[in-house]
Amino acid sequence: MEQRQQHFLVVTYPAQGHVNPSLRLAKRLAQTTGGHVTFSTAISAHRLMFPSLAKPDEEVEDGLLTYIPFSNGYDDGFKVDTDGDLDDFLYQFKLVGTRTLDGIVHDLAARGRPVSCIIYTIFLSWAADVARDHGIPSALYWIQPATVFTTYYHYFHGYEELITSHGHDPFFTVDLSGLPHLQIRDLPSLITSTNSDDPYRPILVALKETFDTLDQKENSSKPKVLINSFDALEADAIKAVGDMDLITIGPLLPSLPLDIGKDSEDTASGGDLFEADKKRYMEWLDSKSGRSVVYVSFGSMSVIKKRQLEEILLGLKESGRPYLWVVRKDNRGEGVELEDGENGMVVEWCSQVKVLSHPSVGCFVTHCGWNSTLESLICGVPTIGVPQWTDQGTNAKLTEVWGTGVRSEVNGEGLLDGSELKRCLEVVMGEGGRGVEIRTKAAIWKDKAWEAVREGGSSDRNLKTFVEEIASNN
Ligand code: UDP
Repeated sequence: MEQRQQHFLVVTYPAQGHVNPSLRLAKRLAQTTGGHVTFSTAISAHRLMFPSLAKPDEEVEDGLLTYIPFSNGYDDGFKVDTDGDLDDFLYQFKLVGTRTLDGIVHDLAARGRPVSCIIYTIFLSWAADVARDHGIPSALYWIQPATVFTTYYHYFHGYEELITSHGHDPFFTVDLSGLPHLQIRDLPSLITSTNSDDPYRPILVALKETFDTLDQKENSSKPKVLINSFDALEADAIKAVGDMDLITIGPLLPSLPLDIGKDSEDTASGGDLFEADKKRYMEWLDSKSGRSVVYVSFGSMSVIKKRQLEEILLGLKESGRPYLWVVRKDNRGEGVELEDGENGMVVEWCSQVKVLSHPSVGCFVTHCGWNSTLESLICGVPTIGVPQWTDQGTNAKLTEVWGTGVRSEVNGEGLLDGSELKRCLEVVMGEGGRGVEIRTKAAIWKDKAWEAVREGGSSDRNLKTFVEEIASNN
């Protein structure tokens, strides 16, 4: 392998659920190749990753990675109230993003560090155009499960009519090659929406562009799609898309101490776009007994209604179990007292993987974002799924297929009732047969996940093969 030639440019969308897996991949590539890896997200996220920079677009170098942001035209972040709708946003994003990313690729070549491969995430298919214009190979990095990739693939290749026409029936079953039986409510919400004015429609259009870009691959080799998942977890879904090369390389974590020996403190930023809460929640966890604590978090984007916060609080209190609950600053219900003395701690943002790795945590009540789902899997923590939108319903379904979690039911208003949360907590954490089975399955999948990412495991081998193929094509 010609190591000196390797320079991966990892380009990602400025949101937490995209930055985390992309940064983890960038680090893994740097450690695997020993070559250059540049991480690039929009300035709006770069400035949050590095809050003490003199200029928001300043380049950062930490010995492992170089961080160079691109502009998407919204350097202060996108605000729906003043900046227009999603359609305008994604249009500008592509226009300005293409121009500024092209400038970065030019600059890096001029500085004697030519890029040898661009890896881009969801919504950034225009990055593949930039790569093509520079004669550089590119690969999509899919940061949701292979099951969701395959579902969209089928949707865009002949199943749109069937799925759309049953969008109103959450229990209608769709059989798609390589996937478990999926009901409409298990499919990504973007393809089952029955609202003709759906404000999120532009996201589906951007996804269609992503698949069109892959379909248009010019040379004879299959388009490469890196997936943050592992073979044993989604074997059939991976094989179902024969005309693309789906390469599982996950689950990628902030650090894999067993085989890497470097942890996230070795890089200039852990990738957080939110300020960590100063409360001593890890010490608080230390004071609790093994597997007794309920960890609750709905990720970086979910907007939780005040009424929903009240119901969750009710369920947690009635279950009588200690809880650590992340409620972001932008998501607090006015006048709701969420803490419960020594029994319940509420934080604005925490180090989630550290929390999930703590032996006191016995259950994760999650919105089922894919990162959260993978993190719970690799930490062996059973889940209660409360999916909100996009891929989360599918991810919740997958936890049931694997046997590592339950999906909660919602009431007529789409809210999780306190009594339902209490019931689910009893199923997952209680002494009944199902709880025992779920905890056993969680332990089994934890082992399989580690098996995939450790040296010589399927994901480790897949990433190394990918790197070698890119090197031999340059
Ligand atoms: N996260 C975190 N601290 C928190 C809440 C979330 O570090 O207090 C991280 C979590 O570990 C995950 C990411 O934020 O890596 C959220 O990604 P996910 O795909 O689960 O959900 P999204 O935010 O994209 O909806």
